Amino acid sequence: MRLWKVILGLIFFLLLTGGLWQIKGHIVQAQNDQFVFLNIDPIYETMMKRDILCLMMSYPEYILDVEKNEEGKVHIIMKSGNKLLYDDGKEKNQAQKSATPDLQDMMEQVYPLGKIAELLPTHYNPGCVRHYPLLKEVYGANKTQIKSNLAKVSIGYKFVEFNRKNEAAQALSSVMKDLLPIARQNYKIYGASFPSSGTFNYRLIGSTSRLSSHAFGMAIDLNAHKNDYWKWNTRDDGQKRLDSYPQVIVQIFEKYGFVWGGKWGNFDIMHYEYRPEIILKARHFSEKPIPGLPWYEGLQNNQEAWRYIWLIEQKI
Ligand SMILES: [Zn+2]
Repeated sequence: MRLWKVILGLIFFLLLTGGLWQIKGHIVQAQNDQFVFLNIDPIYETMMKRDILCLMMSYPEYILDVEKNEEGKVHIIMKSGNKLLYDDGKEKNQAQKSATPDLQDMMEQVYPLGKIAELLPTHYNPGCVRHYPLLKEVYGANKTQIKSNLAKVSIGYKFVEFNRKNEAAQALSSVMKDLLPIARQNYKIYGASFPSSGTFNYRLIGSTSRLSSHAFGMAIDLNAHKNDYWKWNTRDDGQKRLDSYPQVIVQIFEKYGFVWGGKWGNFDIMHYEYRPEIILKARHFSEKPIPGLPWYEGLQNNQEAWRYIWLIEQKI
């Protein structure tokens, strides 16, 4: 009788310790998974939240909400009801990112604010990638719609056409109010700026099937110089032009949300394009995330940002 009890006790003990060992194994496994999760995903998630914050702040009338679906895919929700996917998850090279970008591809390269001493490498073209479904929602889905959204903006000696949506025309008007008095005092600044080589022009980007930003009425070419464009010139020519370019023009355009084509590896020095989301990211999130700090570090006291930060925290 006593022997049976001992044997049963022993079996029970073995089962219990085996079970505990297995449970312990799961805990270790779970901790390992969490360890991996904490070390890789938070960086991606931080970048995603920052990108979406910059987009929502830059297109406040057009992006109304953000959501994460059951598969974990994140979409921004447009005023039209359309949903735009943040990240299609596809591996792409730089050419593919330009040809079929998602929002993540568009926001990926950080635009350098301030003076650059040298032309950027040819693969580095921050603000050159455009997600057309977003532009079409904001500026017009076709030529007729875009044309109906154009306003006349004074650039001193004449009026040019620029898209009034998302306050793009207003931004160009603000640029001109700052630039014109300075340009009138300095022939070099005036000569680099005027006459303008064009704003709205419904055309494709040379040798592609993609619309130019000029087709949306969201870009202006200042006075074109023979060394301004990467397809016409060597990089040495472009570098010389960069060295002598009046930086005050760049500073004024950037102040009002325009990126400068002179900061593209495939340089386009006459070209300025209204891309508030790229400038906002450059201003607030030019550095890589620092572990332990909130993803919105630096914007805690920014009232305008805070309602979007709060929304993003709730939804994704
Ligand atoms: Zn241009």
